[in-house]
Amino acid sequence: MPITPQQAAEFEAVLARTRKAVVTTHMNPDGDAFGSALAMSFFLDRRGIDHEVVHHDGHTPFTLKFLPGVERIHQTWRDSEEPDVAIVLDLNNLDRIGMPQSEFIATVPTMVLIDHHVPHQSPGDLRLVDTSSPATCLILFELFKHIGAKITPEMATCLLTGIVTDTGSFRYGNTTTAAVEAAAELSELGADIVKISQESYMKKELASTLLLGTGLHKMHLEENGQLAWTVLDSPDFEGAGASEEHAEGLTNELLSINTVQIAAVIRQPPGRKLRASIRSREQYDVSAVARLFNGGGHKNAAGCTFTSSIQEAERDLIVELKKCLASSTSTSRKA
Ligand code: 5GP
Ligand code: MN
Repeated sequence: MPITPQQAAEFEAVLARTRKAVVTTHMNPDGDAFGSALAMSFFLDRRGIDHEVVHHDGHTPFTLKFLPGVERIHQTWRDSEEPDVAIVLDLNNLDRIGMPQSEFIATVPTMVLIDHHVPHQSPGDLRLVDTSSPATCLILFELFKHIGAKITPEMATCLLTGIVTDTGSFRYGNTTTAAVEAAAELSELGADIVKISQESYMKKELASTLLLGTGLHKMHLEENGQLAWTVLDSPDFEGAGASEEHAEGLTNELLSINTVQIAAVIRQPPGRKLRASIRSREQYDVSAVARLFNGGGHKNAAGCTFTSSIQEAERDLIVELKKCLASSTSTSRKA
C-alpha cells in the first residue's frame, strides 16, 4: 500500500523534534540505497536538520560515483553529540546495515524506516513500508510530495537513479505507472534520465566484463534450460581483478536466456562473505528460497549469505531452487 497522508504527517512530527539525524542504508549499496540516502540528506539540509550519512562499506561502487553528494557518506558518526533519530532506508533487516554501524544505529532512540522489501522483521518506531513500490526512492518521492517539500535537481537525480536501477530501466515486472510518471516528473525537476541510465548501465569497469566472462564460462544449465547458475570463488575474482561490486548484474545476464526461469550467482570475493543473488521470472518466488537461508528480498530478486563452504551452499541452494521451479510449475499447470 502506498504511504498515507497520515504516515507523512507522522514523519513530519518526528522531524519536528529531531535534533540530529543519522541516515543509513544497506551494505553492498545499489542505486536505490545511495539514491535514497542522498536524497534524504539533501532534504534534511533544506529543513535545516543537522545530520550525517553513515554507511558500512567505506567505498562507492564505480556506477554510483556520479551521484550528487556521494562525498557526504562516511563510515562513522563524526559529531561529538549523538544522533536522536535514525533514518534507515531500503532495508527491513537491520543486519543488512553491517557491523559495527548496525550496532550504532540500534543505540539511537528513534528509528524511521523507509523501505519496499517484504518484511519478516519489523524494526523501526515509524515504518513507511510499501512492498508494492518498485523502489525506496519512489516512496521518498511520494513522501516529499505529501509534505510539500521542494525537490531540487540534486534530489531529483538521486531519486530517479533509485527508480531507474531498481526497475532495471523500467524492464522488470515491478515497473508501475507510478514509477514511469515519477520519472517524467523528476526529469522535469532537473534529473537527466539519459545520463543516469548511461552511468548505471553503459559504463562499467573492465573487471565487470571479465568477471561476466568467467561467470558465463562456468555456467550450469539444468532442468531443460530453466535453471541457470554459476559459482565464482576468490580466484575467479582475482583473475578478473574484480571485487564484490563487479558481480552486480551478472544474475540478470543468466536470467536473460530465453529458457531460463530461475538464475543464481553464488560468489565469494576475496575476504568477503559467501553470498548468492537469485533472480526469477514472474511466477517463481525466490524470496521464499532466500528466506530458507536467512536472506530475503523481493519475489523475483532476492539474496542470502552462507556460513557453509561454497560446495555445500551450491548443493543446498540448487536443491531448493529446483523445488521452487517444480512447485511453481505444478501450481501454474493446476491453474
Ligand atoms: P542482490 O542480489 O542484488 O544482492 O539482492 C537482491 C535483492 O535481495 C535486493 O532487494 C536485496 O535487498 C535483497 N537481499 C540480498 N541479500 C539479502 C540478505 O542477505 N537478506 C535480505 N533480507 N535481503 C537480501
Ligand atoms: Mn531498493
